[in-house]
Amino acid sequence: MITALIAAFQLAAASPQVASPAGPLVVKDASRSTSIALVATSAGPLVRADQLRPIVPITVSHLTANRWMLIVNGVGIEVEEGLHFAKVGDQTYQLAAAPEVRKGVLYVSLQLVAEIIPRVATNLVWDPERFELRAFSTVQKFAAREAPAGVASRSSRRSGPPAGDVRTERSAPTTVRATASGPLRSRRLVVVDAGHGGPDGGMHGPLGGGPAVLEKNITLNVAKRVGAALGERGIDVKYTRTSDTLIALSDRGRIANDAHADLFVSIHVNAANPGWKDPGGARGFETYFLAEAKTEDARRVEQMENEVVKFESGPSAKSGDPLNFIINDMAQNEHLREANELAELIQRRMGEVHPGPSRGVKQAGFRVLVTAFMPAVLVEIGFGSNPAEAAYMTSPSRMDELAGAISDAVLEYLKGYERRVASGGASGGGNAPE
Ligand SMILES: [Zn+2]
Repeated sequence: MITALIAAFQLAAASPQVASPAGPLVVKDASRSTSIALVATSAGPLVRADQLRPIVPITVSHLTANRWMLIVNGVGIEVEEGLHFAKVGDQTYQLAAAPEVRKGVLYVSLQLVAEIIPRVATNLVWDPERFELRAFSTVQKFAAREAPAGVASRSSRRSGPPAGDVRTERSAPTTVRATASGPLRSRRLVVVDAGHGGPDGGMHGPLGGGPAVLEKNITLNVAKRVGAALGERGIDVKYTRTSDTLIALSDRGRIANDAHADLFVSIHVNAANPGWKDPGGARGFETYFLAEAKTEDARRVEQMENEVVKFESGPSAKSGDPLNFIINDMAQNEHLREANELAELIQRRMGEVHPGPSRGVKQAGFRVLVTAFMPAVLVEIGFGSNPAEAAYMTSPSRMDELAGAISDAVLEYLKGYERRVASGGASGGGNAPE
């Protein structure tokens, strides 16, 4: 698959898609943003390579004569003044505009920054619509996490399971600081996202009668229990919503970015396709991470979960977004492997308590996951269209069990990540502790 991607990329590089810039190049990570002026040339725009620092961890060194080496996240990219090629290991990439040296400083084509660097270096993604190069973080290495101002005073108010009807709660997104001292080396923050809300009810069921369920209520109820269970395991939690309100999909990721979260977990309820042979009989749970949808069924769930955009208004509802481009760009990204690992653990733990079959770890292009600059997963905890699973997902004791399983998986993932980093087995990457 990686070979195929590189081949596809080389074709794309021969006809660059970034020839007409809309403005300065924006480089950002979860907490910083900077604009870099482009230098127009007849062959296309150039970027002063060292200006990508510090958000992009790049070093620019002059080798000999006309040859230069760029090192991004440990990956070496060799270019030569006046030559339309960049070398990365054994691979050669074609450049629309050759690098130029002006007053002893290297300028490279925007295409190198927008297309090649995100391909070869981890944790970088190009967004052609916003004209933005984004640096993602994986879980921050041993970062001593300070509780955000105003949060510490709430530490005694751990989020218990929701009291009463969740639909009547009107509280703002809340951060819950864990009180227990967990077995983790560092404080970790997980954003728990209850799918849907407000006018977007999500799926409703079950098929063939039985007590009615609405996805947005189940997700909120389960999300709060996941938050409580994480708190018990010594992990800090922030919710994207704690009441029945609609949060734009892109804002959910932004909440996680602003909080410098380590992980993003979105809770959803699946629905059978009415066209299936026995739609009411479909059961089971599955966990997704962000990538190109691989199967027809993954595309179905992707379409269902992205549909909420029709309820959104304002800039975040912009249509024709570069979702697919971003997903393709992320295909070799380190943090996808991290998200995959987390998804595997969630499936395994849920399998210990869930009566339905495991439908496995899957990949799809969920808008809600695109804007979260950290390992992010979406859990479909069961089929609300199935009467037995609808009942299961609204049983308080079963919801607690599910929440415990998801939280165990998160803790196991974070412990595993810390072990991998400590033994040098994980490349880590992303943001250095600040
Ligand atoms: Zn959903």
